[in-house]
Amino acid sequence: MAVPKHGSKEVDSKTKRKAEETSEETMMTKNLVAQVGRKGGEFELVEREMPAPGAGEIRIKVLACGVCHSDAATKEGMFPFITFPRVPGHEVAGIVDEVGPGVTQWKKGDRVGAGWHGGHCFVCESCRRGDFVTCSNEQINGVTRDGGYAQYMIARHEAVARMPEALDAAEAGPLLCAGITTFNALRNSGAGPGDLVAVQGIGGLGHLGIQFGAKFGYRVVGIGRGPENEVLAKKLGAAKYIDSANTDAAQELQKLGGARVILATAPSAKAMSGLVSGLKPGGELLTIGVSGEPLEVSLAPLIMGKRRVQGWPSGTAMDSEDTLRFAEMTGVRAMIEKYPLAKANEAYARMMSGKAEFRVVLTM
Ligand SMILES: [Zn+2]
Ligand SMILES: [Zn+2]
Repeated sequence: MAVPKHGSKEVDSKTKRKAEETSEETMMTKNLVAQVGRKGGEFELVEREMPAPGAGEIRIKVLACGVCHSDAATKEGMFPFITFPRVPGHEVAGIVDEVGPGVTQWKKGDRVGAGWHGGHCFVCESCRRGDFVTCSNEQINGVTRDGGYAQYMIARHEAVARMPEALDAAEAGPLLCAGITTFNALRNSGAGPGDLVAVQGIGGLGHLGIQFGAKFGYRVVGIGRGPENEVLAKKLGAAKYIDSANTDAAQELQKLGGARVILATAPSAKAMSGLVSGLKPGGELLTIGVSGEPLEVSLAPLIMGKRRVQGWPSGTAMDSEDTLRFAEMTGVRAMIEKYPLAKANEAYARMMSGKAEFRVVLTM
């Protein structure tokens, strides 16, 4: 439950590393995965042949994989291009187990992470402009290719982040999606030290957003529904808490001078729509929580106050690497509940219930 302090893992890392490598040495020939066999199906534990990395790929021995709300896209077949069976999982922490032909930057034994961005083509317009995350042929771990609900997975070499020694694999998992998304959205938002930044939603994304925001030097305001999250929000680094169930959050933000940025994480377009008037002139509603409903925004205050609404995807492997390093440096950690791979159905149901505090992680 508690957020571990920076440096507390220092002593353990050598022992941990040894344990990770020892299990790596046992010759495995099979790969146990939790796959979705058909659209809407349950997770099935299946023993597959050990996959071999192709050109430009590496094989990762998975130590932990976060269970993300976006895994519903795979399980429920929400993208038309998903084929089944498919192994979900895009919050993968592990160690390089084997490298394929042409891979020069990774070697066996490297601690690595893999996130949503699973690879890019290098030749589309976005890639030629260096904006790999909007690649029009983007690969997605656990969606277009098998992900981390497995003992082993194959990843593209350009989509792998280096994971610091001191980070526990299970704690690192969620940083590869929920972490990078909040970290990267905020660091690209234009907010600077001392700026008022509101984080709407004290959940899987929000509890990381508050921590990162506080470490970036923002004056962070947590916005949650009900009074019960106030203590936690402040413990995570929020200077102030607004209970949106009992007050008008936008008005409360205006009393504080208006927000430079509102990071909207709770998947409710309606709740986000109501927050726009809490922005100061030039402020930005930065949305990362996905909702099926459209966002409604009054145009006059948007135009007159030069306010903006922006979305943000996660980021590339380098962004993940920055996220992991920053988390190691500053003590930002995901709060997690662990389940063994064999209990993938239970873990997924727990995540979907919205009651987990706050990220569910499978351990192998
Ligand atoms: Zn995710
Ligand atoms: Zn591309």
